[in-house]
Amino acid sequence: MTAQILSGKEVATAVRAEVAARVAALAEEGRSVGLATVLVGEDPASQVYVRSKHRAAGDAGMVSIDRQLPATVRQGDVEAVVAELNADPLVDGIIVQLPLPEGLDGEAAVVKVDPAKDADGLHPFSLGRLVLGRPGPVPATPGGIMRILDYYGIGTAGKTAVVVGRSFLVGRPLGLLLAQKGTDATVVQAHSRTPDLAGVCREADILVAAVGRPKMFDERFVKPGATVIDVGINHTDDGLVGDVDFDTVVEIAGAITPVPGGVGPMTIASLLANTVALAEAKDT
Ligand code: NDP
Repeated sequence: MTAQILSGKEVATAVRAEVAARVAALAEEGRSVGLATVLVGEDPASQVYVRSKHRAAGDAGMVSIDRQLPATVRQGDVEAVVAELNADPLVDGIIVQLPLPEGLDGEAAVVKVDPAKDADGLHPFSLGRLVLGRPGPVPATPGGIMRILDYYGIGTAGKTAVVVGRSFLVGRPLGLLLAQKGTDATVVQAHSRTPDLAGVCREADILVAAVGRPKMFDERFVKPGATVIDVGINHTDDGLVGDVDFDTVVEIAGAITPVPGGVGPMTIASLLANTVALAEAKDT
């Protein structure tokens, strides 16, 4: 059996079209949607991410606001820019591109973002709402994974989901989303201290690998027919690879996200979806 390929690229295209339609509907009421990014320093990967976010925002009909600061700034300078964007009525969503350069505190900067403009869903207020099961912006990568499952009609209720990774960016919020009422998976949150990880993973109907280790998850980790979601982005001599050994796992899984073209494209699509939802929720 060869697994069904879950194309995040296809889902992202659908999400971005839906976001563009919602932005157009707001434009008809005379309202624009603004997405602002704060980029500190010159990390090439962060520059690429920020450029992609602006391009995608523009494609969706949003206004994008690009604030760049040198790595030599002080924490107070970063927070002052965030405060300015909080006060700007044309800004609906704010992203502080993480990580900040050495010596600056990214988490403290994110806390300064007005929760009503938290496009990344990483503000403690948003994360708190997630724990409470209330609606609000959810972190973009986990939100994107939930959209992939939904788009392909992969049921979660009563299923066992093993999420390997417990970062605040991916693993932990995804575990919360999968376990929430209405989604109803039974979630195992695994990590580097989990004994017999392969055995634990083999229990999964839905296996999520969010670790950052190239091709670590081979056929020993996968129950035949399982859905496998590969979050990993690993730059190796062989190019970009995921955490899953795609070539072997594709032969036994029921469905699998490829790298590239799987979870990756969903992250920006989810950011845009968060931003338009924040704009719609804004008091006019
Ligand atoms: P972190 O480094 O913050 O977290 C990695 C997690 O994996 C930790 O919880 C760690 O456990 C766990 N881990 C590490 N090694 C092992 C191991 N050998 N066995 C079991 N668990 C292990 O990474 P992120 O969550 O930020 O990212 C994970 C991956 O996803 C990376 O490759 C990253 O590039 C990618 N990513 C992709 C995105 C996308 O858009 N597709 C977006 C964000 C991230 P412990 O807590 O015990 O240390």
